[in-house]
Amino acid sequence: MAKKCYWCADKDRELSSSEFEFRGKKEAVEICSEQCEKDLLDFVAYASDHLWHFLIGLFALPLIGTVITILMQDVDNGGFGCFVIFAGMGGVIFKYPFVTPQTVAMFGAKKGIAIGRYTGIGCIVLGVGFWIVLSIWG
Ligand SMILES: [Zn+2]
Repeated sequence: MAKKCYWCADKDRELSSSEFEFRGKKEAVEICSEQCEKDLLDFVAYASDHLWHFLIGLFALPLIGTVITILMQDVDNGGFGCFVIFAGMGGVIFKYPFVTPQTVAMFGAKKGIAIGRYTGIGCIVLGVGFWIVLSIWG
C-alpha cells in the first residue's frame, strides 16, 4: 500500500514522520504538511477531551430512548422514543465523529471524520422519519 498522509490521505506529496499520543499510546504517522499536522493534533486533543462524552452519549441515549418508547407506546407508537434513539446517537456521532482506525487507514482522518458526520446526519434524518411515520400510524 502506498504511503499517504494520515490526515488528508494525499499520496502525491512529500511525507514526513510525525507522531501523536492518544490515551497514553504513541502513534507514528506520516503527514504531508504543517497544516495537516496541526489539524490532526487539534482533533486528537478534541477526541481525548470528549471520548467519554461520546461513549456515554452512545450508551445513554439509546437507553433513554428505549424507556421513552416503552412509556409512550400507547401515545405515539413509540415514535418519539425512536426519534430519541436515532437522532440522539446521530447527534453524538456528528458532534464527536470518532471513526474507527480502519476508516482512517482507508480514507485518511479528514475524510473519515467527514464520513462520520454524514453518518450522524443520516441517523438524525432517520430518527425524524421514524417519529413522523410512527406518529401518523398512531
Ligand atoms: Zn496531508
